Amino acid sequence: MVIYNRVALIGLGLIASSMAHAMRAGGLAGEIVGHAKSAETRAVALEIGLCDRVCDTAAEAVAGADLVVLCVPVGAMEAVAAEIGPHLAQGACVTDVGSVKQAVIAAVAPHIPGGVAFVPGHPLAGTEHSGPRSGFATLFQNRWCLLTPTELSTPEAVARLRSLWEAMGSNVDEMDPAHHDLVLAVVSHTPHLIAYTMVGVADHLRRVSNSEVIKYSASGFRDFTRIAASDPVMWRDVFLTNKEATLDILGRFTEELFMLQRAIRMGDGDELHAYFTRTRAIRRGIIEAGQDTAAPDFGRVAKPSGA
Ligand code: NAP
Repeated sequence: MVIYNRVALIGLGLIASSMAHAMRAGGLAGEIVGHAKSAETRAVALEIGLCDRVCDTAAEAVAGADLVVLCVPVGAMEAVAAEIGPHLAQGACVTDVGSVKQAVIAAVAPHIPGGVAFVPGHPLAGTEHSGPRSGFATLFQNRWCLLTPTELSTPEAVARLRSLWEAMGSNVDEMDPAHHDLVLAVVSHTPHLIAYTMVGVADHLRRVSNSEVIKYSASGFRDFTRIAASDPVMWRDVFLTNKEATLDILGRFTEELFMLQRAIRMGDGDELHAYFTRTRAIRRGIIEAGQDTAAPDFGRVAKPSGA
């Protein structure tokens, strides 16, 4: 069932290539046109047949498209929006897949001309891999996609985009952009920062204890290293643009950490036991909500995770 006649993907990394595969698998787009910044990525996209056409410029790629998907790092959204703005077709819809919503809206909305809808979006699905070869059609299966409509989103444009994400396997929710950024700071952005920090600590320790950190890493630490292998550009941009929410959650995290540190120092077993009992109940809730399985799977390969 064709939902859009021509979809332009700007940026051809993990998310765009997964969308291309999923749209192909479901016959959801009449034509898929792509553009990426480097000639190298464009050549790979051509070689593997990711798109029907690959264009040298974003302006060329969006011409005549009824859906334009911005799949570039959050920090690159503004430059891309400025370039494509004058070339968007009347009646088209622009969306994005950025991990932060308020900053993307502020960067993109001023460049959307009259007669074009803008519906910001964020699929909560990803892996630590990036680039045009890393995508796969089932990435969005049973994962949430959050749409954060603005005054530039018409109800028709939102409904049509929702039907695309649902046809790619996602469950779709609508959310206020500021609320999105706070929720994501809790469930994704701060945990990634903690993983980066923990791997940094272990790297520092390794100089003291040789290779023990690697040797015994299966006991949980390996999952931290998987998360900390995520794309540095993408994650730099997430923290630079979701600054306030991340700092808020980090402040709360630090307070809890100090509280646990004190409980350990004071030998307060009751406090530790009560705390871990509460967190165990949260984990059970996640399994019951179908967001993970109970089976431990440390070091898993390409395990979908939200960003
Ligand atoms: P990725 O695999 O690193 O790919 C990024 C793509 O953007 C590359 O093709 C890159 O081109 C292109 N690009 C960068 N700057 C550009 C510019 N100025 N003009 C045109 N193309 C440009 O990234 P990704 O993981 O797909 O992430 C894309 C977006 O999805 C980000 O906003 C991220 O926040 C969001 N997101 C990511 C995940 C995740 O887990 N990975 C999950 C949900 C949402 P070159 O290859 O030529 O450099």
